[in-house]
Amino acid sequence: MLSDIEIAKNAKLKNIYEISERLEIPDDYINPYGKNIAKISHQYYDKIKDKKDGKLILVTAITPTPAGEGKTTTSIGLTMGLNKINKKSIVTLREPSLGPVMGIKGGAAGGGFAQVLPMEDINLHFTGDIHAITTAHNLISAVLDAHIKFDNELGIDPTEVFWKRAMDMNDRSLREIIIGTGGKANGVPREDGFIITAASEIMAVLCLSRNIEELKEKLSKIVIARGYDKKPITVGDLKIEGALALILKDAINPNLVQTIENTPAIIHGGPFANIAHGTNSIIATKMGLKMSDYVVTEGGFGADLGAEKYLDFVAQNYNLKPSTIVIVATIRALKYHGGMKLNELKNESLENLKKGIENLGVHIENMKKFNIPVVVAINKFYSDTDSEIEFVKNYAEDKDVFVSVNESFEKGSEGAVDLAQKVVNSCNKNNEEKMTFVYQNTDELEVKIEKIAREIYRAGNVEFSINARKKIKFLKKYGYDKLPVIIAKTQSSISDDKSKLGAPKGYEFTVRDFELSAGAGFVVALAGDIMRMPGLSKVPNAVNLNIDNSGNIEGLS
Ligand code: ADP
Ligand code: MG
Repeated sequence: MLSDIEIAKNAKLKNIYEISERLEIPDDYINPYGKNIAKISHQYYDKIKDKKDGKLILVTAITPTPAGEGKTTTSIGLTMGLNKINKKSIVTLREPSLGPVMGIKGGAAGGGFAQVLPMEDINLHFTGDIHAITTAHNLISAVLDAHIKFDNELGIDPTEVFWKRAMDMNDRSLREIIIGTGGKANGVPREDGFIITAASEIMAVLCLSRNIEELKEKLSKIVIARGYDKKPITVGDLKIEGALALILKDAINPNLVQTIENTPAIIHGGPFANIAHGTNSIIATKMGLKMSDYVVTEGGFGADLGAEKYLDFVAQNYNLKPSTIVIVATIRALKYHGGMKLNELKNESLENLKKGIENLGVHIENMKKFNIPVVVAINKFYSDTDSEIEFVKNYAEDKDVFVSVNESFEKGSEGAVDLAQKVVNSCNKNNEEKMTFVYQNTDELEVKIEKIAREIYRAGNVEFSINARKKIKFLKKYGYDKLPVIIAKTQSSISDDKSKLGAPKGYEFTVRDFELSAGAGFVVALAGDIMRMPGLSKVPNAVNLNIDNSGNIEGLS
């Protein structure tokens, strides 16, 4: 079996101008980064904004195993399948973070014969967007600490600085640090730490800004600390939103690349789906809808996290309503939910599959609550047996949704023709006007959370810790409680407890704290320990990576 990088190496890439010309983007709006990557100016959206929108397809998944169940791979396979059946389609995806490429997860540019290319660039520095976000993020820290050193006019309380530093690497030893030691010349000592860049609020802000004005407005609202008088201190108070926007002036422009079959792909921004909304930039998706008939996009983690956030937050506030939801399911993960061990998932087991299938059932029911038609895409692995696939197909058909076996990992677009056709049929069935949300923006903060916890996470009742109640008071006092809510919890269970596999219900869901992302425009409810700075494992993927004098690369997947 060929590795992802070997398959990628054999692919024939087209010059990026061929791709942009096919999309009818005038060269004036294209800024090439080498032969196969280009940035599309965000200003281009203004030129095409009166064109009719294509259909939006949201790809999500059942509750994943640690390896991921193939949402990105399926999204890429599906867009190629749609093009194969002569529908104009673009895939819009998130940019991989470099840290996890060095860790266990590996890259995030799809796999097998469903990849976006050049995968070695996309997975590494790409067009430097993530580096620009790192720089912007750390400018805030540097200005903040200089402000505290030089008279601290804003009265920032150094023990209440929420804004940590950022870098794009899995480096656990930087999670908690002391800065400013070494005497007066080095500033005021205080506790600090690093988060990975993808977890930065600037990542979320960039992905939600359609132009520079919006970007500046959102950046200036970011709350970074509290003053001695307890009031929130914002980036606007430091007067650096202009500098930050300048650092991000190219990062705001979507990146155009191609799939392994030369169909267009836009890869832009990469926020997480727990502490943030978990999908690529709004501007990329909106542009895509003007330039094609079908845009395929992905929400992070399982449908309880990424899709709920897409539907309640993105669709409700940014008018991006999907015409179809694709739920990616794997036989492997369903067996895992049925109690099988990770290292045994290759073995056939209808017994475990029957137990674990309820997980798919919950996600189907949840997605139907939004009144959008659902397609279940079984992402086929080599080890899946016919009887296992038959069982899942029958189960899903009984739930009155479209079902397709997707073999694009192995066969490219050929393996996704049936899926593409079913997605088209499903989109034709949809009426976007009928879409409903689990919560309304006008609901009280606690009500929003209770609705998500009961309807999507299937909790019995919802508890708020004493700490969480204190934070609610703070949010109410400063008028932040009216913002939409983003819930951060484990991705390994529908519940807030990662050990509860399958289809837990009726349990107590606990919100233990809140964080404010006032720039991005949401409140984050924390229901579990959320990792903002991953660490490397004993044997990281970094030891598999290599390059030689001729530029041959090994180990990227
Ligand atoms: P997600 O987007 O859901 O996290 P990815 O699409 O990134 O998942 O896939 C996770 C990993 O699984 C990737 O390394 C990918 O190459 C691999 N993968 C996906 N689908 C298949 C498949 N059908 N067979 C084998 N490996 C697969
Ligand atoms: Mg993915």
